[in-house]
This record gives sequence, structure tokens and C-alpha cells, in this order.
Amino acid sequence: MRNPTAKRDYYEVLGVTRDAPKDEIKKAYRTLARKHHPDINPDRKEEAEEEFKELSEAYAILSDDDKRARYDRYGHNAPGGYDFDFSRDFGVGSFSDIFDVFFGGSGDSRPRDRVYRGDDLRYDLSLSYEEAYTGVEHEVEMTRFETCDTCGGSGAKPGSSPEKCSYCSGQGQVRESRSTFFGHFQTVTPCPRCQGDGQVIADPCPECHSEGRASKKRKLSVAIPAGVDSGARVRVPGQGNDGPGGGPPGDLYIFVHLKSHDFFERRNGDVYCEVPITFPQASLGTRIPIPTLNGKEDLEVPAGTQTGTVFRIRGKGFPDPHGYGRGDQHAVIRVVTPTDLNEKQKGLLREFAETRGDKLRGQEKGFFEKIKDLLQA
Ligand SMILES: [Zn+2]
Ligand SMILES: [Zn+2]
Repeated sequence: MRNPTAKRDYYEVLGVTRDAPKDEIKKAYRTLARKHHPDINPDRKEEAEEEFKELSEAYAILSDDDKRARYDRYGHNAPGGYDFDFSRDFGVGSFSDIFDVFFGGSGDSRPRDRVYRGDDLRYDLSLSYEEAYTGVEHEVEMTRFETCDTCGGSGAKPGSSPEKCSYCSGQGQVRESRSTFFGHFQTVTPCPRCQGDGQVIADPCPECHSEGRASKKRKLSVAIPAGVDSGARVRVPGQGNDGPGGGPPGDLYIFVHLKSHDFFERRNGDVYCEVPITFPQASLGTRIPIPTLNGKEDLEVPAGTQTGTVFRIRGKGFPDPHGYGRGDQHAVIRVVTPTDLNEKQKGLLREFAETRGDKLRGQEKGFFEKIKDLLQA
């Protein structure tokens, strides 16, 4: 909010010079009004309203020859004041009105269409990995607006029909002329009797109470294609809300969410899993059955496998929902260090260590050579 005692100079507010001609003042006002209009600044509406009022006041004074002359002579403190009142002088109830007046808002006189397409609907569906892998036929239970069977969407009792609104003569709008400071202009508002429809229902349908639609619970079976991932939307045409007045239906969108899995982790079309093996298995090599999304698969672990090694099992990932191939499964090996050795096992390991020495070999030995100096420092 501005401090009302520190009133800004009207020329400054409009950004024009003191000798600016009338049309320049008008142009400046139009440009600034558009910029500061509260409807254009919803995030700072109050401030914008103040700015807009300040702007309008400056324009009201400077666009009037007599008031402008007095302002040039006395400034804000002219004897008797300027008798400016925003809502009275601008002759409008709201900022939206003035916006329409100036910038040509809803000037057309056709009634609003009573019949139009219904809304799309959203349904959130959680799927398991297995369901997403194979695709499923899923039963969906939802509430949707459906055209009333009794009146066929007209909202009128069978045998009667909606009548032309007498208040607005079927125009859906009422025009009001007002004389204001800007001259003569009209405001156009939706008809208060028919709410802009241009029609009234004298004898409402007993089933839908003139709505033309009623909300119904529906179950339907939806085919979810194989391979869908979280974030996918499956469109079911015509299963959104029926439109008002018997209008065509919108669509239903199934938003897919994948539940997490104990063993698998999906990354796009690929599937990752961790496979724990023992030190002897890693050293000597082994063959272990691991699960895939499509049955068991034998994983060949060669002798000398390190922890972190990733084996790829081709074609065992998710299928592409559009039919473009299939991802892979990646098995990440984790060599598990035992924590529950008994005395006999500890003895064997010590014996094992003695036969090898407790030094690492190969690449790892190279690593220790490199850090030896650092450790002794
Ligand atoms: Zn009406
Ligand atoms: Zn009905």
C-alpha cells in the first residue's frame, strides 16, 4: 500500500511530460492500465489494485481540460479538491468490468452453449512389476457424469422442453448502459435468470432436477498394455464425463504407478537385481538360478568373479509398450563376507591364509604398492 500523504505527481504516474497532448495521455493510460490491471497480476492483486486506481485517478484528472488546468496551477491541493471517486467515475463495479470496457472483453451477444463436451477424468492405478510386465485387464471402479436417461440431457420433464428465457430474450446476457466520465458505454453481464444459458426449464426433470446429467458409479474393464511404466497414461476414449445437455463425453485417463518390488528395480526398460554369493562361489565359479520377470534363469558365475560385477541377461527386461523390443535384466554380484564362522572354519581360513600369505595379488597388489609410502609416512 502506498502512503496516501505522499501522493505522486499525476504526470509522473502516467510517465508523460507536462505538455503532453491529450491523445498521448490516453495512450499512456491504456498501456499502463493493461500492465497494472489486477487481473493480470493475480500474485500481487492488492498492490496492482492500488496502482491501477492511482493510474486511473491521474488519467481522470489530466484528461479533463478544466481539471488539468487546475492541477497544473495548484497541484494535488486545489481549492475544493477534484471530486474524484474511482467506482463512481469509472462507473463500474469491478476491475474486470473496466478491463472489458477498455480492451474489449466479452462483447458478443450469443448465449453460452448449453451443450458441450464433457470433462476428461483421471484414475490412478497401482500395478505390480509382474502386472506391468505382462499387461493386464484391470477392473476400474469410478464415478462419472452420465446423460440423464429420463430427459435425454435436456433437463426438462419428459414431454416438455426448455423455453427461451424471457428476461434476456434468449440472449443469455443483459446489457446495461451507463453514462460515465468516459462517455456512454455498456456493460454486459450473464443473465441472472438463466445464468447465461438463454433458456429456462419451467418443468424440471424429476430424475436429474434440470441438470441433464447425474453422477453414476461405474465399473469397467481396462486393458493395460504390457511394459507400461510409472507416469504412463492410458487413454480410454469416451469414458470421461458425458457433456452437459447431452454433449459428447470426455475421455478417461488411467495414470499408472508402479509399486516397488522386493527383488527387482526398474530403470526404463531394464531390470536390475542384486545377487549375493559366497566367497568360495565367487572364487571357484558357480551356476545359480535367479528369478526373472518371466520365470527362473540360470546365471553362470565364472571363477574369480568380483563383487560389483554385472551380468546381463538379454531380453529379460520389460517389453516396450509400443512394441519396440525388450529391455535386459542386469544381475549385480555381491560377494558376502561371512560373519558367523565357527572355530573349525576360522582355523581353515587361517590355514588358507598361510598358504597364500596375507598379501593381495595382481592388480590389488599394485594398489598396495602405490599406497605403501603413504601408510609409512
Ligand atoms: Zn436469461
Ligand atoms: Zn433428467
